[in-house]
Amino acid sequence: MKKLKLTRRQALTAVSAGAVGSFLKWSFPSFTIARSEQDKPALLGGPKVRTAPWPSWPIWDREAENSIIEMLRTGRWWRGNGEHIVEFEKKYAELMGAKRCLATASGTTALMVSLQALGVDAGDEVLVSPFTFIATYNVVFYQKALPVFVDTDPETFLIDPSKIESRITERTTAIIPVHIYGLPVDMDRVNEVARKHNLKVIEDACQAWLAEYKGKKVGNFGHTGCFSFQNSKNLPAGEGGAIISDNDELMDLCHSIHNCGRPYGSVKRTSNYPINGGNNRMQQIQALILMSQMKRILRDFEIRIENAKYLDSKLKEIPGIKTYKLVHESAKSAYHLYPFRFISQEFNNMPRETFIRALNAEGIPCMPGYGPQNKDGLIEQMLTSRGFKRLFPESRLKQWREENVLPGNDQLCREAVIFSQSMLLGTRNDMDDIVNAITKIYKNRQALAEYKG
Ligand SMILES: *Cc1c(COP(=O)(O)O)cnc(C)c1O
Repeated sequence: MKKLKLTRRQALTAVSAGAVGSFLKWSFPSFTIARSEQDKPALLGGPKVRTAPWPSWPIWDREAENSIIEMLRTGRWWRGNGEHIVEFEKKYAELMGAKRCLATASGTTALMVSLQALGVDAGDEVLVSPFTFIATYNVVFYQKALPVFVDTDPETFLIDPSKIESRITERTTAIIPVHIYGLPVDMDRVNEVARKHNLKVIEDACQAWLAEYKGKKVGNFGHTGCFSFQNSKNLPAGEGGAIISDNDELMDLCHSIHNCGRPYGSVKRTSNYPINGGNNRMQQIQALILMSQMKRILRDFEIRIENAKYLDSKLKEIPGIKTYKLVHESAKSAYHLYPFRFISQEFNNMPRETFIRALNAEGIPCMPGYGPQNKDGLIEQMLTSRGFKRLFPESRLKQWREENVLPGNDQLCREAVIFSQSMLLGTRNDMDDIVNAITKIYKNRQALAEYKG
């Protein structure tokens, strides 16, 4: 066996664990053998903490099939005569507490339409959060604008509001705060900077249906709020998205842009196609699925919060497990994912990879969070493209590269571990399985840290 080098602290912990073990052995010899076998990590051949399956997703209501079959038989499958889409928009606006809602083909297209409607143009710069799904800044590149990353606060998993102002240049026209995993961004602080510098605010709420900040649903704090209804999301329809806002003129413009630039409301008919647009329309079937899924979303939201609060209280007792910090006491997360940070040093320098494999082996599915996407291949692909070289002076792109250093985000990318939202729909016992499995891994951190599999 490989010889171990222990730090002073680790040596102390190892000694005390050994002392407890030998005490038990003297007192109850037969019990201890069974008990130690029971405590052996599943990754090292011991029994799993959990063998039962977790709730699968999406959860489908049989009754909803009737309305879909009926719609299919009418032939009215698209937005052009799509009464179900209009009904969904009304219901979703109500649910979100917004004046208007526009249904779109996806969350990505909701963001694209918002950027265009708010005037983000080629050669502009848009501030974005780097700890997000890639769509958040792919859409900036689609607009031939430059995404400028603002560092992440590892404690909140969110954009660090104190880092926004230093990234603003005379080309900056907008900011996309992302309520990642459903955790609300500190929107008062974002809006304060945005107002001062006259920036448009597009909330990426694609993981944050019903999440709240200071008593109001997120998506209502920016010029627009964008949502996704892709299959894994808490409100799923295969694909789909929505934009919300209280601004009628802006929403008319979004509608027109998402429908090939056809006139709509205050977008007047000066010709057949008065403005430039695309086809980003939702289909009727998506609206019907969404309305059936909306029947469960409020209850699911409460169940996830209750289970998450319980997990918070238990997990923060385990050394080396750092739960997220909410930006305000009033903040409510939608828990698209339940995140925490794994501090390897507290687990005898066990790699996060091993921790995740060990937890999966115990029957608790989990994954790492996002990688450092500000270093992904697409960045250089875009920055070195012909178009970008025309739009941005070489000196600006050079400076961009030099400033693309995000220590907070890098740290979070190394430490984050996530559970899926559907696991949070389980029972209190299911949550205890999670806690017991992590506790078991913590107790066996020495053996697992040495694991080379
Ligand atoms: C899912 C998601 C999107 C994109 O939504 P799609 O419906 O998949 O296009 C954008 N941003 C975030 C944070 C997301 O999670």
